[in-house]
Amino acid sequence: MRILVVEDEKDLAAIVKQGLEEEGYVVDVARDGEEGLYMAENFPADAVILDIMLPVMDGIAVLTRMRKKGIKTPVILLTARDALADKIKGLDTGADDYLTKPFVFQELLARVRSLLRRKGEAKQAAIQIADLEINTASHEVKRGGKAVALSAREYALLEFLAYRKDNVVSRTEIVEHIYSEDKDMDSNVVDVYVNYLRNKIDKGAKTKLIHTVRGAGYMLKVE
Ligand code: CA
Repeated sequence: MRILVVEDEKDLAAIVKQGLEEEGYVVDVARDGEEGLYMAENFPADAVILDIMLPVMDGIAVLTRMRKKGIKTPVILLTARDALADKIKGLDTGADDYLTKPFVFQELLARVRSLLRRKGEAKQAAIQIADLEINTASHEVKRGGKAVALSAREYALLEFLAYRKDNVVSRTEIVEHIYSEDKDMDSNVVDVYVNYLRNKIDKGAKTKLIHTVRGAGYMLKVE
């Protein structure tokens, strides 16, 4: 999953980026509102963490422009303590959630997960697809009740496919959302990772869940 962090405080942005990357997210950071809007438009993220107090263009203006352009990416606003007017304005503008500074990183993480789940229309931390269980909080995966050990990248790929279950996911989307752009990924590498994942998830199972859609990409579905 790809997260855009729009935050001008360098230290905070660095801590959030590092923490999210440790959880397996791909993170882009924008330092001002204008850059944030540009990134939101051009590098589709799965969630945006948007500070309100930003140089050039404030967070509310960024959010307003995003929603006007039809960008529906879930947004968590970061607000100053007691800035009630900002919170109300933010939610009215189309923010999905807000967090008051200073915050505990674990809370930000939980809110990000909650937003990503809402996007995937799953309400609990656990996603269940046939006998595949994915715990998005602990990253534990089970197939047929048996624990499956996945690397961080394999987990990220599985979660991405699971949130979009019954929809075709292209190799380009996988590269964009799972792997950082600076890694210069070849889309053939995606096939390699999908095969690793298949070996762990589908091998030996009666029903296959990860399907290749010829010429289009991959789809996680129950046949
Ligand atoms: Ca700020």
